[in-house]
Amino acid sequence: MRIPKPKIRELIEAIKALIKGPYTSKFPKITHKPHPNFRGQPIYNDEKCVGCLACVQVCPVEALGYEDSASPENPKRKLHHYTDTCIFCGQCETACIADREGIKLSNDWELSFFDRKEASESIEKELQLCEVCADIITCKDHLKWIAEKIGELAFSNPTLYLSRLKSLGIVDENIVSALKDYGRSDRTKIVCARCRRETTLTTKEYEANKK
Ligand code: SF4
Ligand code: SF4
Repeated sequence: MRIPKPKIRELIEAIKALIKGPYTSKFPKITHKPHPNFRGQPIYNDEKCVGCLACVQVCPVEALGYEDSASPENPKRKLHHYTDTCIFCGQCETACIADREGIKLSNDWELSFFDRKEASESIEKELQLCEVCADIITCKDHLKWIAEKIGELAFSNPTLYLSRLKSLGIVDENIVSALKDYGRSDRTKIVCARCRRETTLTTKEYEANKK
């Protein structure tokens, strides 16, 4: 029977193993350092995220979710990332409107946990409610982001320019009316699209009926 000769590569590996010892993973004694391009756990950045939900819409496996609380005292949106569902595809980062900084893949790969409830992280954003009907418009940071993005065009829409002026501290934060008025003053409030339409279409008739 003919014994096959060892190939050069195998001989080199054998000599290397004789000198350096066999290769084994040193984890967990020595922490593994992943490659800089490794796609690990996505992490929300509270400072950069504007709460627009683009990432939630593109996630292919529903590893991102949100819940809104429209309580007038503390309206807020909670954004969640579920590690146990995530496939680390990076679509959320790619779609993030905040220059891809609102949520970013990290190098975090050590994601084991005992309790499934620990497999999620959340951030909170402040919601903007309609000052006429108290419906949710979007997050305050999102309105500010749109106003900044479109610049002077924001002055064609009271919701946007008031959001911008409030964020700059030029307009009082507490100018809120929960009353359905549809008078002239409602046209210069932060209102949802439905109330904007109604205030525009009905003001004339409303003013006439009041006389
Ligand atoms: S990395 Fe992919 S799967 Fe994970 S949260 Fe982002 S979009 Fe969803
Ligand atoms: S700003 Fe980025 S991270 Fe925040 S909700 Fe929008 S897409 Fe998601």
